[in-house]
Amino acid sequence: MTAVSSPRPSFDLPEPTLRIDGEHTAAQGNQTYDSFDPATEELVTSVAAAQPADVDAAVAAARRQFEDGPWSRTSGAERGRILTRAADFIAADAENLAFLEAIEMGKLFHDSVNGDIPAAAEVFRHFAGWADKITGTTALLPAFGPQRRFGYTIRQPLGVIGAITPWNNPVLIAAWKLAPALAAGCTAVVKPAEDASLSTLRLVELLSQAGLPDGVVNVVPGLGTVAGAALATHPGIDKVSFTGSPRVGKQIQSLAGDTFRKITLELGGKSAQLIFDDADLEAAMPWIAMGNFYHQGQVCAAGTRVLVHTSIVDKVVDGLVEAAGKAQIGDPFLPTSTMGSIVNQRQLDRILRYIDIGRDEGAELVTGGSRVARPGYFVEPTVFRGTNDLTIAREEIFGPVATVISFDTVEEAVRLANDTRYGLNAMVYTSDLSRALTVTEKLRVGTVWVNGWGVPDPSLPWGGRGGSGIGRELGRSGIEADTEEKTVHVGL
Ligand code: NAD
Repeated sequence: MTAVSSPRPSFDLPEPTLRIDGEHTAAQGNQTYDSFDPATEELVTSVAAAQPADVDAAVAAARRQFEDGPWSRTSGAERGRILTRAADFIAADAENLAFLEAIEMGKLFHDSVNGDIPAAAEVFRHFAGWADKITGTTALLPAFGPQRRFGYTIRQPLGVIGAITPWNNPVLIAAWKLAPALAAGCTAVVKPAEDASLSTLRLVELLSQAGLPDGVVNVVPGLGTVAGAALATHPGIDKVSFTGSPRVGKQIQSLAGDTFRKITLELGGKSAQLIFDDADLEAAMPWIAMGNFYHQGQVCAAGTRVLVHTSIVDKVVDGLVEAAGKAQIGDPFLPTSTMGSIVNQRQLDRILRYIDIGRDEGAELVTGGSRVARPGYFVEPTVFRGTNDLTIAREEIFGPVATVISFDTVEEAVRLANDTRYGLNAMVYTSDLSRALTVTEKLRVGTVWVNGWGVPDPSLPWGGRGGSGIGRELGRSGIEADTEEKTVHVGL
């Protein structure tokens, strides 16, 4: 494949520093790490690597804002106005934010401009509407002895949120954490992933321009084992909101156990797409393919276990092979590219290792399977035929690798779908509404898409079961997760 490249839009990088109390600062000891462009393998910039003392300073700034204000004295209506302005600023800045996502992690520029960034703006818009509607309940209580009583609850902001985000959708996932927290009246410290810190720094600049007081959201880029670990264990935070791998999620859960601190864990997935013999394949195939190859398969909700009724399995394999064949793998800035690069060499090696394991364990490689011969970390969309007990069907690969598995009965399809340690989401394709709803009920997952695949909507909860995590973000659940409910009994 020839390396065609397109002229890149030109934007200034945000200051690659910490952002504490609105100030850009270097890390203690001037520690930095390098951020590379995975599509060219060239250095983007060196980013300040926060040390534990920097995390202390960031948490102290967020704590001051939470306890003393002005954020703690800002009304819900005013918080909503700021969040609405933030949504407008994010939408208007889509190209700049998308540029940063593309140069740091190889995501297609036009997918971010048209997808992630407007979606992140909508998350802020949604939660702006919640900010002045966070209410409790009231109850008339039976008299207690001679005393008449009534009771009510109030929802109060939880405090300082420690948000730790992954590299694959940095702006959108930061929005999932920050927008409900700010609507609820919380403050935050964000630790973006090493591979994608710049877009989060830009996002927080935009929040500031929208009127968010300094210190309400602080950013501590840095290594997971240093800055992430310091934030996750910091006594000054009230909740850890983590999105990332099950490996790190497990560590965070055990550390939080010592402190009784609240946690939300949004972890990985190995989701099933269940395709029944009555599915409208023409309509379904683009979703099934997208669920495997979109963003090079680097999506927690990817549906890489493609469970298909035996009678149509060849058609689905052909459909995936056709989609893979049409993929335009290349420069994330080229409008014609449909797949960009893998985030880094380590992830590329990991994907190629899983492809080797698939072959070694006897899965049939139908298409793909190789690195693309050009600079940068590009891999072919890959399709295997296999069974659910293969390593490639059990472990999250986080790359464009589908395993097609056949089933004969509805019961078998449900059993296979649930035979996983994950439980994030599933997709069900059928023309029979009754079957769709019956199967949906039996799937042990947090979200089901019927006849489609896509992005979580801010109005509905998102989160997993089992190895996919604990808790929910977004919607009413997102507000509840960032508030504490207090019950008051009043004697009359
Ligand atoms: P990762 O777990 O390696 O890193 C996530 C974040 O945790 C990064 O900011 C990292 O620096 C930090 N971190 C690493 N070690 C840490 C430690 N010891 N203490 C505290 N923080 C630490 O994950 P990743 O590779 O960035 O992201 C990919 C994973 O994220 C996949 O498993 C994917 O499925 C998952 N993910 C889940 C969702 C969801 O909504 N469920 C969304 C996106 C990604």
